[in-house]
Amino acid sequence: MNNAERNFIFTNATQLQVGTIYCIGRNYSAHALEMGAEVPEKPLVFIKPPAAYIYGENAIIDRPEYSQEMHHEAEIVVVIGEDIPHDAGDEIGNYICGYGIGLDLTLRDIQSVAKQKGEPWSTSKSFKGSAPISTIVPISDFSTMYPQLTFSLSINGIVKQVGNTHLMERSIPSLLQYISSIFSLRKGDCIFTGTPQGVGPLLSGDNIQASLDSYITMNCSVL
Ligand code: MG
Repeated sequence: MNNAERNFIFTNATQLQVGTIYCIGRNYSAHALEMGAEVPEKPLVFIKPPAAYIYGENAIIDRPEYSQEMHHEAEIVVVIGEDIPHDAGDEIGNYICGYGIGLDLTLRDIQSVAKQKGEPWSTSKSFKGSAPISTIVPISDFSTMYPQLTFSLSINGIVKQVGNTHLMERSIPSLLQYISSIFSLRKGDCIFTGTPQGVGPLLSGDNIQASLDSYITMNCSVL
């Protein structure tokens, strides 16, 4: 395994070993609606292991053979640079070391069955390679620790998803506070902050372009 397979890679060429990947569900009301669901009363959190990570730039995404329907969910990814103490309070944003764009790859057919049966989402959400993430933009490139960001995903040149941080049901600091209060956020952990509307299937041969404002664009394709 080379470093690119287990490390975040920053635009300034520094690297950081990937820890736990926390994911937030239904953080954009229009996406909750398209899934026939409501925005939950408390943040919906699930976890992907470090092995779910792949460096997304020029990645070739493979669909597990036990699924026939893999969906893209483009999301802003927040990377944590230092272990967060439980008393971080309003200073919690100081522990963010960068932002990127990622794909919360989802096996929708497997997830639908899990939802019906009340079973966990691990096999639909947390399989190996299920978290392609772009090169990370260091926090020092932003004028604030909580920048307002637009992001988008195109497939074969056609825009499928557009989102903006101001459309989030729960802000990045409130998500950090919530996750930190229940789990423990440590150096190298990251948070997928939820997907906007427009999720849909990825097909063999698709070329994907995901952009985080003008900061970074990730190109990858589907095997
Ligand atoms: Mg998602």
